[in-house]
Amino acid sequence: MKSDMRLFAPFPIEMDEHPKIMPLSDAAFRALFEATFYSRRMLSDGFLDERVVLKRWGQEVADELSTNDPEKPSWIKVDGGWMIQDFDRRWMRRPAIPPEVRILVFDRDRWACVHCASPAALTIDHIVPWSKGGLHEETNFQTLCRRCNSRKGVHPNA
Ligand SMILES: [Zn+2]
Repeated sequence: MKSDMRLFAPFPIEMDEHPKIMPLSDAAFRALFEATFYSRRMLSDGFLDERVVLKRWGQEVADELSTNDPEKPSWIKVDGGWMIQDFDRRWMRRPAIPPEVRILVFDRDRWACVHCASPAALTIDHIVPWSKGGLHEETNFQTLCRRCNSRKGVHPNA
């Protein structure tokens, strides 16, 4: 299997002892992981289509995962399927850019912002945003000064 940094998903180290995870059946525990990777791979926001859930994991597992905590179950029942609780906040975190990759990108872009040519306060920018499925690798990185990088957020098409 090709290594793909977009599949990066952190799980808490104490997960096996978490009060709402520990009592889960094997099938539900497995679904909890599989659904997270499935959603990440599909670049969804954590929404699990009802047909996919019923086919892959079944109603019983879905019921278990949407009732394992009265306030914050692992899955939340919504129209047409389920949402993975806090998927955005917990699973969409992107990995850090390794220092040697930063150097490579800065070297390639001659240590200057590719928009305004400023050599000051250089940052690495995702050309296609990570949140839109952009790769977390050199080909999708460019050098921007902090000013141009923060403007990009305001005028994404500028
Ligand atoms: Zn700039």
